[in-house]
Amino acid sequence: MEEFEEVVKKIVEETGKTNTEVLEMIYKKQEEYNNLISDVGAAYLVAKEFGIDVKSTANFTKEIKIKDLFGGLNSIRLKVKVLKIFPINTFKKEDGEGRVMNILVGDETGTARLVLWNEQIDDFKFKEGSSIEIINAYTKERNGMTEIRIGMYGIIREYDGEIEVKDTSIPKEYVEKKIAEIVFPEENIKVNAYIQKIFYKNPIIYYCRECSKVYETETCKDHGKINPIIVISGIMEDETSNIVFNMFTRTVESFLNTNKEEIIKLIENKGYDEFYKILENMLDIKYEIKGTTKETQKKNIEINVSYIKPINDEKYVGEKISQLKNSGGVSDV
Ligand SMILES: [Zn+2]
Repeated sequence: MEEFEEVVKKIVEETGKTNTEVLEMIYKKQEEYNNLISDVGAAYLVAKEFGIDVKSTANFTKEIKIKDLFGGLNSIRLKVKVLKIFPINTFKKEDGEGRVMNILVGDETGTARLVLWNEQIDDFKFKEGSSIEIINAYTKERNGMTEIRIGMYGIIREYDGEIEVKDTSIPKEYVEKKIAEIVFPEENIKVNAYIQKIFYKNPIIYYCRECSKVYETETCKDHGKINPIIVISGIMEDETSNIVFNMFTRTVESFLNTNKEEIIKLIENKGYDEFYKILENMLDIKYEIKGTTKETQKKNIEINVSYIKPINDEKYVGEKISQLKNSGGVSDV
């Protein structure tokens, strides 16, 4: 018998509920976890709630990428590379001294902080450069940053595979603000805001880093071929005020779950009208936005967005991808 069926059967027997009732509870449990746990994992959780003793051998946790992390997740699994191990910090607690260690980990989608406490530090035998699998972890949001932690049942083991890490920067801490409270040069801020407007202009920018100039075409007369970047700008607002934002290549790629090449292909084939039609769907949705303030030449404050995630609409990004696909922007091949 399948493990899932086995657990369901056991819950039915022990509780006297019907099969359908039990299944409904399991799927509801999965939804509570934003579908980040497997159906077997959810079944075990329901069993646990009824105090039913079922020993799990299941692949309990669901794999997640760093870019998809947010605070409050449970029973997740990640394959990451250890990028940097920071010195152990000690702190006083009621029964003596506690220890905490931060580890910077990364996968192909970004970096995050793994936080280990006390005995977990002694159990951690890996070095910088090791590939590891973190199983049954949970996340916590602190200072605008999502931390990965492992609880009593979490383990870290060696992962025998390649993990490609593109970005090795340390995730920043962000101060939560209302837009009206944002002052320059306060650096890293987090706001909950709506996108009110997106400026209609070509998002493909040819910016030569060497001479710090923007060109119309992909060639700088002094420095040759320029690698284009994608820039989307607009206005975001919350209940207190509004502010201009800019979103650059990596954030755009992550938000639309596509890559620069696909965006450029879409725009070259269909013009940027088509791209903006997709972006119009970003309006009127509330986002959690993290970014860095900057001051323009005219002394206005803008936010360069490094992270944006819809707050109430988990399905949003998925819909955007299918729209990009339908409009020929993303190929499956
Ligand atoms: Zn140049």
